[in-house]
Amino acid sequence: MKNKKEFRNWLNGYNSDHPLVIAGPCSAETEDQVIRIAHQLRNSDATVMRAGIWKPRTRPGNFEGVGALGLKWLQRAKNETGMKIAIEVANPYHVELALQHEIDILWIGARSTVSPFIVQEIANACKGIDNPVLIKNPINPDLALWLGAVERFHMAGVNNLGVIHRGFSTFEKTRYRNIPEWQIPIDLQSRFPDLPIFLDPSHIAGRRDLIFDLCQIGLDLNFDGLIIESHYDPDNAWSDAAQQITPDMLIQYLNYLKLRKEIG
Ligand code: PEP
Ligand code: MN
Repeated sequence: MKNKKEFRNWLNGYNSDHPLVIAGPCSAETEDQVIRIAHQLRNSDATVMRAGIWKPRTRPGNFEGVGALGLKWLQRAKNETGMKIAIEVANPYHVELALQHEIDILWIGARSTVSPFIVQEIANACKGIDNPVLIKNPINPDLALWLGAVERFHMAGVNNLGVIHRGFSTFEKTRYRNIPEWQIPIDLQSRFPDLPIFLDPSHIAGRRDLIFDLCQIGLDLNFDGLIIESHYDPDNAWSDAAQQITPDMLIQYLNYLKLRKEIG
């Protein structure tokens, strides 16, 4: 599996016209929460469930994830629903544990992509794996740093690579939590047309009322897929409460996005 078509087929069960959808909570919180969300998402077009178990927090004192304990919950979610599972890995030990627990997709967080040393360590730990690795852009708007991370994984022999656009930090007050700077992912797409690219509207927006429009922009810009934070009780989520949407909302959004695409 090396190109977009094969990647889409693998994720979507040969329904390659459809955008790839990864959805799930910002953080795995409890076993019940993970299992409940997995069953709700099973009724949506999402084929992959995301959940963070190791959460990189900008400031100490916030919820930092349940850690390795969550791997068993995610394995159960996978067995009960047939969904593929994606988690963030931030060091070689995370990679080892994820692979031991049949995690399907690994992603590299925006705070890891900024550091070539840590990227190299994670890439070395991924040597020879077939699991897709999705690399989020660095928090700062630096295309070279983003591409450098992709190259490090590629050079380590990881062939199933993709990228996730999650917006860029700014000190300015804007409507977005992380500004999209669309020219950067567009430039990346034109240089590497075969590299699957996902949009993460949740971390760009930082608030749920902007998610739908961002998804539509992503599809209009030919992104291959979406990674969207979804929780049955967003307001009480243990992290990123303002930006998560319920699985019901997700189902409605995905139907309407498809409809708009067909009409368009
Ligand atoms: C996340 O996906 O929950 C996350 C922490 O994302 P990012 O690395 O984009 O901030
Ligand atoms: Mn989050």
